[in-house]
Order: sequence, then C-alpha cells, then structure tokens
Amino acid sequence: MTLSLESIEVKQVNGVSAQKQSELHAFGIFNVKDLLEYYPFRYEDFRPRTLGEVKHGDKATLVAKVIGIPVLQRFGGKSRLSCKLIAEPWMFTATWFNQQYVREQLTVGREIVITGKWDQKRSQITVTDYEFPDRGGGKTGTLQPVYSVGGKITQNWIRKAINQGLQQFGELIPEILPQSIIRKYDFMPRKRAIATIHNPEDSREGQQGRRRMVYEELFLFQLKVQAFRVLNQRRTDGVVHTVDNATVRQFVRSLPFELTDAQKRVELEILQDMRSPYCMNRLLQGDVGSGKTVLAAVALFATVRSGFQGALMVPTEILAEQHMRSLTRMFEPFGISVGLLTGSVSGRKRKDILAALQMGMLDVVVGTHALIQDDVFFRSLGLVVTDEQHRFGVNQRSVLRRKGYNPDVLTMTATPIPRTLAITVFGDMDVSTLSERPKGRVPITSYWVKHDMLDRVLNLVNREVDQGRQAYLICPLIEESEKLDVQNAIDLYVQMSQHFPNYKVGLLHGRMTPAEKDEVMRAFYNNEVQLLVSTTVVEVGVDVPNATLMIIMDADRFGLSQLHQLRGRVGRGSHASYCVLVADPKSEIGRERMTAMTETEDGFEISRRDLELRGPGDFFGTKQSGLPEFRLADMTADFDILEQARDDAAEMLKDASFWTSPEYAALRTYLQNEQIFQGEIID
Ligand code: ADP
Ligand code: MG
Repeated sequence: MTLSLESIEVKQVNGVSAQKQSELHAFGIFNVKDLLEYYPFRYEDFRPRTLGEVKHGDKATLVAKVIGIPVLQRFGGKSRLSCKLIAEPWMFTATWFNQQYVREQLTVGREIVITGKWDQKRSQITVTDYEFPDRGGGKTGTLQPVYSVGGKITQNWIRKAINQGLQQFGELIPEILPQSIIRKYDFMPRKRAIATIHNPEDSREGQQGRRRMVYEELFLFQLKVQAFRVLNQRRTDGVVHTVDNATVRQFVRSLPFELTDAQKRVELEILQDMRSPYCMNRLLQGDVGSGKTVLAAVALFATVRSGFQGALMVPTEILAEQHMRSLTRMFEPFGISVGLLTGSVSGRKRKDILAALQMGMLDVVVGTHALIQDDVFFRSLGLVVTDEQHRFGVNQRSVLRRKGYNPDVLTMTATPIPRTLAITVFGDMDVSTLSERPKGRVPITSYWVKHDMLDRVLNLVNREVDQGRQAYLICPLIEESEKLDVQNAIDLYVQMSQHFPNYKVGLLHGRMTPAEKDEVMRAFYNNEVQLLVSTTVVEVGVDVPNATLMIIMDADRFGLSQLHQLRGRVGRGSHASYCVLVADPKSEIGRERMTAMTETEDGFEISRRDLELRGPGDFFGTKQSGLPEFRLADMTADFDILEQARDDAAEMLKDASFWTSPEYAALRTYLQNEQIFQGEIID
C-alpha cells in the first residue's frame, strides 16, 4: 500500500510542533493532505513597477536606492522613520512606522525594494514590506499567497509550513483525474497544480493551476450529485400511483381554464414519475404567476385517487389559507377532503385534524411548519408538495418526507435560477420548468419614480380603483428591525386612510395575529378593501387576480428577487397591471436594481442579474440553501468550468466501464476516501 497524505500527521512536517498541529485544527487542517489543500484566497503582488505606472492609493513594489539620511521621530511610545529614496528618475520619501531598527540598514547608495501604499500628493510611500537585494533571495518579483489565518498562525508561518510540506511530501500527491480528461483539457499534473497555486511562478501559471483544481472540485461534485440521482432512479421501492388518465382528465376538465402547453407538459412529467416505482424528486420552477398551484392540485388529486394522502407545505399562514381555499374549491366536487394545519390551528381543532390524518379520514392537508411536528402522523402519505421551496431548509423537507414510506416529492419554486446553477444546487432532482404564462395575460408595466412624484403615483391608485381594481402599497424595509417596519406600515396606513377617504384601506404586517391577518386578506380577496398597505408578508404566493397596481416604497432597499416576487402579485388576471418603484437610490447597486426591474419582466433574467449583483452566497441566503461550499471554485465566475464538468461527469457515469476500468481506479479510491459514494454505488 502506498502512503497516503491523509494518514500523515501535520507535525511530520519539519518545523510544525505538536502545539502548532493542534492550533491548525481551527482551520480544518488535520493532516498533510488538508495542509497542502489549504489554498490562498488571493495573492500579493511583489513584482516591481515603476512610479510612472502607479496611481495614487495603489499598493506597489518599487526598486529604489537610498539617497538621504534617515530621520527618526518619536511620539509617545511610537516612532516614525522617514528616508529619501530614488526610483529613477523619481525621488520620494519612504516612511516606516514603529520600526526604528530599520534606520541602521538605510545606508546611502544601498539598493532597497519596498512595498507599500503610494501617496501621490505627498510623494510618499508607507512601507509595509521591504527587502535588500544584496542579501539575496526574497519575495521581490513574486506573487505571494495570502491565506486565511488567525490566532497564533501567521501568514509567514503558514507559507513556510506549506512549502515545507510540499518539499517533503509533494511527491505523494496522487493524480486522480483520468488521463482522458487531463489530455482533453491539457491540464498540468495534480502535483504541479497544487504546488503552483501556493507558489505561482507568474500569474498565468497560477491561473492554469487554479483552473485545473477548480475543474477537479466541480467535477467531483458533479459525479457525486449525478451518481446520487442514478442511485435514486435505481431504487424501486417508491410509491406507485395507479391513477388512470381518464380520471385525471375529469379533474383537469373541471378547472375554470384550459392548461397551457407548458402546464400540460409538466403535468405529464409529474404523472409519469408518480406512476413509476421510483421515488419522484422533482423541482418545478416557474416564474411568478406561471400557474404552479394547479399542477400541485393535479398531483394531489392523483395521489388521492390512487388511495394515498397528500400534503402541501407552504412557508406562511397567509399562503396556507389561500391554498386551502382554492384546493377546497377544486376538490369539493370530487368529494376529496382538505384540512388546514398551521400554528394557529390549535386545541380541539388540531386534535381532530391529527386524528383524521392518522386514520386516513383526511385526504389532503395544507399547512406550514406545523406539518413537520413530531405528533403529526399520516396513515398513507403518498405525495409531499412544498411550495416556494427556497423558504424551507433541506432538512425541513426531508422531515416531512419521512412521515410517509418513500412518498413522491414535488418541490415548487418561484425563484427561477439559471439553468446551470439549478443543475449544481439541485443536481439530484429532476427539473421541470414552466416557461410560459397563461394566455391572455397583459404584461406588467414597471415604472421607477422619485419620491417627489408620489402624488402622481397616488393618482394612479384613484384611476385603478375607480375602474374596479385593487392596489398594494408596500412599506419600506428597515434593515434588522421588524418593529420599525411595522411602525412604517402603520404610519403609511394612517396617511392613506386620510388621503383616500372614499376607499377602504387595509393594513397587513407580521406582528398581527393570524386571525387578524386572515381577516384583512379575506377582505382584500373579496374587494372589500381596495388598497392594501403591507409589509413584505404578501411577498410570496398571494394570488388576488383583481389587483392591478403594486407600489413599492423605497424600492432600492429590497433585493431584486424580492422586488420581482412583489411585482408578481399583480398581472394575475386579464387587466393591464402596473408596478411602481418609488426610490431615490443612493448606491450604484440600488440604481442597477431599479433599472433591471424596468427593463425586464422575465424572472430568469432577473435572477441572473441578481446573481451578478450579489454573488451566489447571498443569493441563496444562508446555509439552508444546500448550496455546496467549494475550496476554490466560485460558481458565478467559474460557470463555464461547471458546465464542462457536468457534461464530463454525465458521460463518465453513462459509460459502464467507469465502474471497473483501471483508468478510473484512482478516482474511485479518492471518491471513497472522501465518502462521496460511501460504497453505495460502487459495487
Ligand atoms: P404561481 O405559479 O405564481 O404559484 P398561481 O398558481 O398562483 O401562480 O397562478 C396564478 C393565477 O393564474 C391563478 O389565479 C391561477 O388560477 C391562474 N391560472 C393558472 N393556470 C392558468 C391557466 N392555464 N389559464 C388561466 N389562468 C391560469
Ligand atoms: Mg404560487
């Protein structure tokens, strides 16, 4: 057996004590493999420039000569050392803070290489790093890696430790990519790639090394995700739904509209999955208003008609009530019972629902997180649907799933994400996309106006309401303070009630009791309230087709996806709809958001721009996104590599010889060590 880097303790590296070894644990470094794969997050450039190239405020490395006598000033316990230098033909002053010992070394005529921040106005440089070429060696001319360090581990120390590690054990770095891939992309060997990332000879070499390792990271990830999917498809112990087409047709025909072609296509995909013995794990992504709910209804209908129960989980009570109402309307003629389980369903009512679920007396349950509590049992859960999936963590979804025996799972999201990213994040799911909206929808016209035009915006409210329509007015968002948000909403509500004495104005915010919220929403659904002043609690899913005007105050404070969600509350019927963004953005990003909103109504385009403006981490929120974390890869910048890696991984998994060929032996071993396949798929 060959020695593997994982089995070598870090203290085997010369210069690393047992003490230091344990300090490295804080950085996730436990063995030599971890140490060598601890990559820098950027490089410091010590390649000399001439002053002609350097701009005010730049950090630069200069080759210079001492031409003056150093002057030392002391103040308090501190000191400042200044000395005149020349970097032909420019003369300037170099300043060291609190390093008076440098004085002796600054002899006139001696050559020095300094790195620091250039102050154009004073013709002065504050030195952060310096070297004397007559001493030999050094950093001059190099790119120095910068690592994430802290505590007793310093930049210089870790650089040395890694380099020492490379020297002693670099030869043991295994090649894991198959030769075919290395040849295809002309990648450098793994050993060299890792060494070069720590010590790039020049930036081009560093780039090549990085590119190779980024590819490797994404390729391994893709292999894993896709292998899970293959594995899942091989499992044949899922629920088999037996409902026939004629029965489903009956239900679809009872709907007040005809399904769009996109809806029909997705309906087929879902039914096919449900009838198979495989566990459905399907993501349905469709822009706001594309009509996802009705597909959830079809799937729920199919599970009930096959003799099972269905659950629909949504992120807010408002949404749960809304779905409860619309499902009841759709299912009543077929004798299918629907129950509601949210945080505000309690006591006797809750007990009854739980009992009915457990005994199989209730066909469909709609609810919030309340559905995943320990005391909720189903008699035969065949289908789990989650709406607005980005609001739920991966765990919450799987808790609900485990309440049945391998039920089919349908996940719906209105935050369409770029295809490539969907494949990365949800690579273990099949993805269905609703690409078109129902016919007869009039596009939403979006305006961006400044605050001083508010009066004219309010005239729009008059016009719409006089024509029988309704409007939303969304309050500004105060960062980190729901309390202030609520105060805003109340203030705005009072103002609007005075401004529109002839209309009924409603108020909705997160601090109201569920019953109060429900009351206001019901009044808005029934057009008893014409103008609804609200915080972002209406952001997801709310469906009132008669509402045609969405006004968002201080719109630049909201994220792009959130704005798009809010806008999606209108344009749901056949009337022309408007979205007015009231904002005086102070930041560039705020202005770009406003422009994006007025330029496009396409959710995919919006999310692409959002991603650009924020980067993927922010885009998906916290850890719960299930977004993988990579050492080197950046999913926005490395999209192209990701796509290649995905295709290569798919091809490799298709090829039966992957599992047995000696060419893949190293890769398989690596994957097993990383517990990527956990032996499940490699027989
Ligand atoms: P979302 O995809 O945002 O969840 P919904 O499912 O709430 O969208 O649907 C938006 C509106 O469009 C609802 O009022 C719904 O009844 C209606 N709708 C859905 N499908 C169609 C269709 N094929 N034709 C006409 N209206 C439809
Ligand atoms: Mg919806």
